Amino acid sequence: MMTGKEYKESLRKRNIVVYLQGKQIPAKELPDHPFIRGHVNSASVTYDLAFDPAYENLMTATSHLTGKKINRFTHIHQSVEDLVKKVKMLRMLSLKTGTCYQRCVGFDAMNATYGTTFEMDQKYGTHYHERFKKFLEYIQDTDFMVSGAMTDPKGDRSKRPSQQSDPDLFVHVVEKNDKGIVIRGAKAHMTGMVNSHEMLIMPTMSLKPEDKDYAVCCALPVDAPGVLHIFGRQSNDGRKLEGDIDQGNAKYGIVGGECLTVLNDVFVPWERVFMCGETDFAGMLVTRFASYHRQNYGGCKGGVSDIVIGAAAAMADMNGYAKASHIKSKINEMIHLTETLYACSIACSAEGVQLPSGQYFVNMLLANVSKHNVTRYIYEIDRLAQDIAGGFIATLPSQADLESPEIGKYVEKYFKGVDGVSTADRMRVARLIEVMTGGTALVESMHGAGSPQAQEVMYSKLANLEAKKKAALKIAGVKVED
Ligand code: SF4
Ligand code: FE
Repeated sequence: MMTGKEYKESLRKRNIVVYLQGKQIPAKELPDHPFIRGHVNSASVTYDLAFDPAYENLMTATSHLTGKKINRFTHIHQSVEDLVKKVKMLRMLSLKTGTCYQRCVGFDAMNATYGTTFEMDQKYGTHYHERFKKFLEYIQDTDFMVSGAMTDPKGDRSKRPSQQSDPDLFVHVVEKNDKGIVIRGAKAHMTGMVNSHEMLIMPTMSLKPEDKDYAVCCALPVDAPGVLHIFGRQSNDGRKLEGDIDQGNAKYGIVGGECLTVLNDVFVPWERVFMCGETDFAGMLVTRFASYHRQNYGGCKGGVSDIVIGAAAAMADMNGYAKASHIKSKINEMIHLTETLYACSIACSAEGVQLPSGQYFVNMLLANVSKHNVTRYIYEIDRLAQDIAGGFIATLPSQADLESPEIGKYVEKYFKGVDGVSTADRMRVARLIEVMTGGTALVESMHGAGSPQAQEVMYSKLANLEAKKKAALKIAGVKVED
């Protein structure tokens, strides 16, 4: 296993091509770039805590392939207990960082690919699973960070991949030879990609036989020839060039640090190809990945909401109205919503089932409901935090104003709350609430792990409405056939 420091240093050894605001960032300097370093710091926590005896039980696991101790983020779930521990680990990590540590995407992609390749081989006699196990062992041994790469740009959403006027709007195979395949296209919203070592490419949706070239799952280094990354903007990212007070969460940043990853005719050797043309398994890979990833959200956002609740309550103390009954009731509402988020993630894990590959998988209905809760309750939790904090979180002057020899005394004097709390500390908490309850952070709760409609499609299918109707009719005394 790597420590956080080793992880950071390992990132400098890559030849990764990253563009940010129109310019290429030298690979060695990337982990220190003001727009990126927070994301690197939060991912580092997933490495460091694996060595902390207090968190070892959550952060590490025993590899079912080698028997070695590994970081849990490289593990294939071997029991319901593993599924539950994952959610607990995420809540704990969010409490430490207040943000996204990005490593779950690759973790979920590896778990989805593990079981899907097993079942594909059973049907077609292919050898994808053995290949994938070798890749997994490599990841477990190196402790590399893997970026799960699913979402294609998708172009005209009313058309299937093979119907698009530009064939590259979904990643596809453009060449096959005796050594491997060549792929072209792009993957969008790639969380943690620029600070990962490898990427695991998956199809973005269920596919039909005519979409054969788009049924591709494979792994490649993030710095493979032909790959480039264009880093996305975040709301308030310009603040990262300013003082730490203005950033709210200066050490770990806000949400994941996403990019567009462009794949310009990238070669992938056969030993790294885990699906190539099996369109009937694309849907399985997508739903397994989506469900594993949606399992996370009550853990990850539960922990993030713990910080929002803590910040709102601390702000109430700093403002002198913590004892007001309406404030207490709003905080209680936030607690209730947060624990409801968490409960559903724990439930979908506790109701996990074993797959033919031997690994454990979440209850899909509950996992989708869990993520859907996040698209709604986080907005309410954040609304309450802004309500409690007061309007000054939107009108506060900058740290530079606070430190100005000419006007600092006015900021100090007129932005003070109760005695005994410095204006600087009150500003810090206000900025934390500001960044955690708005802009990019809020959009991530809506669309991360799939947009609300994607979850609705899944849970409406899985809920068995006909059985509910039948049960109701029976109780009402209407005759129904069993
Ligand atoms: Fe993990 Fe996604 Fe949460 Fe980030 S947002 S911590 S990748 S589950
Ligand atoms: Fe996500």
